[in-house]
Amino acid sequence: MSRWPPYRLGIWLADHLRSCYLCHLHTTDYPHLTDQINSASQLDGSVASRLLCHQCHQAITWLPPAFTIDIAPAHTLVIQSAAYYIYPIQQAITAFKHREDMTKLPFLVHALRQIPRPKGCHGRNSVIVPMPTTVQRLRRRGFDPVTILTHYLSRHWQIPIWQGAVRVDNTVSQQGLSRAERLANLDTAFDVIQSPPNAHLLLFDDVATTGASLKSLAQTLLSTGHHHQLSAYALAHGNPVK
Ligand SMILES: [Zn+2]
Repeated sequence: MSRWPPYRLGIWLADHLRSCYLCHLHTTDYPHLTDQINSASQLDGSVASRLLCHQCHQAITWLPPAFTIDIAPAHTLVIQSAAYYIYPIQQAITAFKHREDMTKLPFLVHALRQIPRPKGCHGRNSVIVPMPTTVQRLRRRGFDPVTILTHYLSRHWQIPIWQGAVRVDNTVSQQGLSRAERLANLDTAFDVIQSPPNAHLLLFDDVATTGASLKSLAQTLLSTGHHHQLSAYALAHGNPVK
């Protein structure tokens, strides 16, 4: 992944900043965080890294309740997000995605680290499947934010990435569409270029609102005859468009 090395800065900053990333007022060098930081190195469970002070960390609702969507008869998909798509996560995601603002990356890494590794999953029985982007979008943006975030998640969980699904290029962006339009637009949005491994597939997207994109990706993966477990994760849970 040629774009990966420069983004290591995000991890370094998330681990080494000593004044709070959000309020810039309080120190993050709290002794009570030491245990959590130690457990971070063991990669189990949620982590309060040294990026935010205690107050700022506590002010964010981490791990909002997971939501479940139907993807096929007898198949549901449970979607767990790190936080709600509101301040300060929303601003950070927007700046990173649309302006490639690297200064937001440590905070997004901090958010990703709140998602505990799924129970029973490890590097030999699971893979992470980042939400694919289109070639068009990649060309326009010059980088793929979801793949970059997925690399941090992969490092956090110690689970490899699988990128055998592609997004069909002629779909328009989901932004600004109603729920019905999103669903129609997603009918044939994905294709599989290699068979998914016989493993638990952990789908990952940056923002999950109705879960329509994750649903469509999951359906495409199921259509290959894949019969292992599927679950989904997102950095943020957006409010459905009314
Ligand atoms: Zn703070």
